[in-house]
Amino acid sequence: MKIICVGRNYADHAKELHNPVPTEPVIFIKPDTAVLKPGEDFYLPDFDPEIHFECEVVYRICREGKNIQPSFSTTYIDSVGLGIDFTARTLQENAKQKGLPWTLAKAFNGSAPISTFSPIANYSNLQDIHFELKVNGISRQIGHTQDQIFSIEFLISFISKYFLLKTGDLIFTGTPAGVGKVNIGDHLEGYLSGEKILDFHVR
Ligand code: MG
Repeated sequence: MKIICVGRNYADHAKELHNPVPTEPVIFIKPDTAVLKPGEDFYLPDFDPEIHFECEVVYRICREGKNIQPSFSTTYIDSVGLGIDFTARTLQENAKQKGLPWTLAKAFNGSAPISTFSPIANYSNLQDIHFELKVNGISRQIGHTQDQIFSIEFLISFISKYFLLKTGDLIFTGTPAGVGKVNIGDHLEGYLSGEKILDFHVR
């Protein structure tokens, strides 16, 4: 499986990192070795002092498809959850300044913790999902999918022009404002529509 991530999909987060609001999705990929399954702890890597959390709504692809029309997009996903797009921010800033790829900053081992997933059938409107990340019990990120610049319907259509989507692939849909550094000992808890579905520690 692969993880396809969208950067700068919330205007407030694009602004906090001093990036322009995009007119086309910013896409990058993480390998399967980035996945951290529910119940697994995150081991803080030593190659960057600024490892940042980015809490994101994640969709799971349930059948193979390419060149998908937006009106059929949601038939290619069956469940929704949360993920953390861990980012080595110093490496990313250096890469951005040099115009180089973000791969080392985004795709390292364990850089994609994921929650348990629930059926999208439980959600009548995918553009009306609230989510929240708490770090050590304090609310750090609050998001609402209606604030996404690009909807999941559009993203699946866009991404599938370039990549064959396969069952089990995950789409990370971008983070709202409030990103920040994690430290050893931190406790991260993610809530989707008020239900805690993500819970792990930084070691
Ligand atoms: Mg992100």
